[in-house]
Amino acid sequence: MNDRARQSIDTIAVQGGLSAGRCDAAAPAVPPIVPSVGHVHPDLAGADQALGYPGGRTPVDPRSFVYSRHGGPNQAALEETIAALEGAQGAVSFSSGMAALHAALLALVPSGGSVVAAEQLYGVTRTLLGHLSAGMNLHVRYADFLDLAAVRCAVEEAKPACVLCEILTNPLARIVEIGEVGAIAHRAGALLLVDNTFATPVLLQPLGAGADMVVHSTTKYINGHGDVLGGVVAGSGEAMERVYQHRRVLGAVPSAFDCWLTLRGLRTLGLRMLRSCANAQRLAEWLAGHPRITRVYYPGLPDDRGHGKAKRLFRPDCFGAILSFEIGGLDRAGAFAFVSRLRLIRPVTSLGDVYTLIMHPASASHRALTPEQREAQGITEGVLRLSAGIEDPADLIADLRAALEG
Ligand code: PLP
Repeated sequence: MNDRARQSIDTIAVQGGLSAGRCDAAAPAVPPIVPSVGHVHPDLAGADQALGYPGGRTPVDPRSFVYSRHGGPNQAALEETIAALEGAQGAVSFSSGMAALHAALLALVPSGGSVVAAEQLYGVTRTLLGHLSAGMNLHVRYADFLDLAAVRCAVEEAKPACVLCEILTNPLARIVEIGEVGAIAHRAGALLLVDNTFATPVLLQPLGAGADMVVHSTTKYINGHGDVLGGVVAGSGEAMERVYQHRRVLGAVPSAFDCWLTLRGLRTLGLRMLRSCANAQRLAEWLAGHPRITRVYYPGLPDDRGHGKAKRLFRPDCFGAILSFEIGGLDRAGAFAFVSRLRLIRPVTSLGDVYTLIMHPASASHRALTPEQREAQGITEGVLRLSAGIEDPADLIADLRAALEG
């Protein structure tokens, strides 16, 4: 077991990418941003070896950087840290979460192959699967991943190369049993790809719980400040080699500055998640007691259908930082008016920031569905999703109270 394997998630996040404590010559305590496109090698033989064609190789050795589309020191520092956080052999960074998902699917599913995906996936991931079905003749079958019998049936029939799901679903914060889903996938010879954006490794490390590959939109909690778009894939060394080769030719590499900023944001991931989860718990409890609120969806509430699963799967006393609530009898105009009365909570179509954000799923994340499809999932016009930030929860409650009573 190496040192990293013994360290906690919080320590890895804080220390990731920093140079070793002792060094021969003075060096910056914080890694510098290296925007250079090219790296000069002592001789062309060194560059030739570093390029590693045909096939190429992952530039894990700092001396092997050649050209920044292949990666560089800031990308490597972020990747090494996320691999350690997810307990993976390697990780590859991308310029967006969608680019990461694209490369992961290319690495896992051959042309003409099948994917069994969760109905509860992020909408644009569904759109991506639609594009790949048309372009690569992929067969995509959706199943309700909150129903394990439905997953089993879909996997047995479709015989997929890959099963794809998220752990905490959007917007109702339902929890997918990834251990069971992984067992179903593996029995059928498929690999499980998990989007861990909502849960983060602070709540759960999917690779230790049944998944084979993990993706993140680092745009969300990993960076946490709403100022960098990015993504990452983590998994076995062999799988990351394939993912890396896709990035190298498709070119969706994040910039050195974006990686540096993301790694800086990542250092406080443990603290931010603990505070955001505690705030989400306070807000959910307060909303559940308000007479205008007809429903609160949050696994931290003892009567929520995901409470037992969350207690079993997640870090103790952490139930995630996303909650949804329904204001009874509200139509779309009423929901918009409520949001416009908020002064502190920001109406932003994202999540996972230090700022508390609110989103109206029926007109934003789930706008592509018909009203009937939304109703079937419980997403009425009166449902709003909150991404709890790290402010003082008393101020957030005061903001909600004023908007509800205004
Ligand atoms: N996965 C999930 C669960 C998301 O919520 C998002 C974006 O909201 C993505 C992937 C895509 O990430 P990005 O916007 O960084 O491309």
